[in-house]
Amino acid sequence: MASSMKYYRRIVFHKETPNFVKQQVEDIKRQILQMVPTKTVIEGIHYSISSVFSLTIIDGKTCSMLSNTASQNCHICGASPKIMNDLDALSLIKGPKNQNSLHFGISSLHAWIKCMESVLRIAYRLDIKSWRIKKMQKTATEAKKKEVQEKLRREMNILIDLLKQGYGSSNTGNVAKVFFQNPELASEVT
Ligand SMILES: [Zn+2]
Repeated sequence: MASSMKYYRRIVFHKETPNFVKQQVEDIKRQILQMVPTKTVIEGIHYSISSVFSLTIIDGKTCSMLSNTASQNCHICGASPKIMNDLDALSLIKGPKNQNSLHFGISSLHAWIKCMESVLRIAYRLDIKSWRIKKMQKTATEAKKKEVQEKLRREMNILIDLLKQGYGSSNTGNVAKVFFQNPELASEVT
């Protein structure tokens, strides 16, 4: 089951340094090698079930650390943000730069978050209709942002784009799932 944390989780309080992450991953890989098949007998038939374990629920930062790519670049094809909107440049990239990166999967959890954030960024700019916010438009865009945040809190019971002390952004996978569970309401609000 890709991106499922139902069966394995480990809680460690430690700074996320590349060395520490790599050491943790080595330890998990060692545990995977020690897994034995589950054996059972149902109505006289012997079943042996073995599983393939992949690190599919790691975040982008960890992906970059493990594949030694710059954090802004795609860990699979190596594309940098500079060429991500340039289809001609992207078409020159042939296949994955790093085959091993494919084992990390493509996290649907982060796809939810990134898609929600894109919709929000557009919603904040609906009045100015431009990606770049000029100095004189700042107050208006901030007000629009507050309005969207407040509406989402009131109507969908979610907190978006807030910084939580020592925790990061309030835009979690669960928040994004709630957001997309009711697309009519979400689009009305944004
Ligand atoms: Zn890529």
